[in-house]
Amino acid sequence: MSTSSHSDDAEALLGKAQEAYLAHFPPTVSFERAVFFSWGCTIGDCQFCYMSTQPDSKKPTETKRSNASILAEFILAKHLGWDIGFFTGGIGVLKPDELEFLLKAIFQITNEKIWLSVGPVSKPLLQRYLPYIRGVVGSTETISPILHKKVCPSKPLAPYERMFEAAKELNLERAMTFIVGLGETKDDLPLLIEFIQKYAIHKIHIYSLIPEKGTAYEHATIPSKEEQAWWIAQLRIAFPILNIQCGIWEDRVDRVSYLLNAGANSISKFKGLKLFGTPLAGQIEEQAIRAGRKFQGTLTKFPHINWDAEVERLSLEGELKEYIKKALHNYLHQMKKNVETLKNRESAPIAAQ
Ligand code: SF4
Repeated sequence: MSTSSHSDDAEALLGKAQEAYLAHFPPTVSFERAVFFSWGCTIGDCQFCYMSTQPDSKKPTETKRSNASILAEFILAKHLGWDIGFFTGGIGVLKPDELEFLLKAIFQITNEKIWLSVGPVSKPLLQRYLPYIRGVVGSTETISPILHKKVCPSKPLAPYERMFEAAKELNLERAMTFIVGLGETKDDLPLLIEFIQKYAIHKIHIYSLIPEKGTAYEHATIPSKEEQAWWIAQLRIAFPILNIQCGIWEDRVDRVSYLLNAGANSISKFKGLKLFGTPLAGQIEEQAIRAGRKFQGTLTKFPHINWDAEVERLSLEGELKEYIKKALHNYLHQMKKNVETLKNRESAPIAAQ
């Protein structure tokens, strides 16, 4: 087949997907933040995951972020107009009491139930978290059985499938992840479609591989925007009302409009806090406009809020509130610095640039 007929096919696919998207969703796009509670994991051997590169000497339970910094991030996300993709971290790192404490505090901040992605969770525990969660995310990564076994040797799919069943019984929504570039082929699409149907999945996160240093995928090729868009478009056509999130990394912001045109609802993975107010963040907002979508919230405009008052209104103990304020101001300091650097660069005389 000639190259031009390939690109004609891709164009037709995207056109159809876009039509399906616009028939069911408004022309908007939100930025979703995944908030992490740790950088280590008791599974620790998924071949693509940076958590698998943590030294053995460090116990996963010692890789927890402070509660203050986690809660500060939720306060920021709320006021920046970001949705919470999910609350996540390494499997087996938080004890149920610790997780419940955080979920309760997060609910106070966001006033909304969130998505939870902490590995396969038993039905009794899901019941316990019910007041604070809207749904569960299974980090399924890939559905092809052979590939899954290779890529996630200690994280089988079956426990996630049981969690989805339990979630169904508890009327919780269900989401899953899929990473393009692990080694799947287009022939795996029917398997994915079947899985989504079987567990009545509401939302899917379609990432493209990030070749993390020190992992088996360190030297792997980054999937093209066309490859990532193909999966999004196929799923949009197969499931017109499925919530599809596309993950993008800082080296891929130029593909946002293309992925939105393939039928994605939202964007995630971009380091929204660290890169807040930078040209890359601005590029994402521009890409949304280019795709004819209104960007919800902001990645570039510094919000003027009485941050301390936001912390004070929470019913948490005083010492924790002081730590949250400290963490919050550290983040705000960096964000402000980014915004000012950009302003200075824009107002500098051309010759001095
Ligand atoms: S279970 Fe999740 S966090 Fe743990 S190593 Fe695998 S992908 Fe990474």
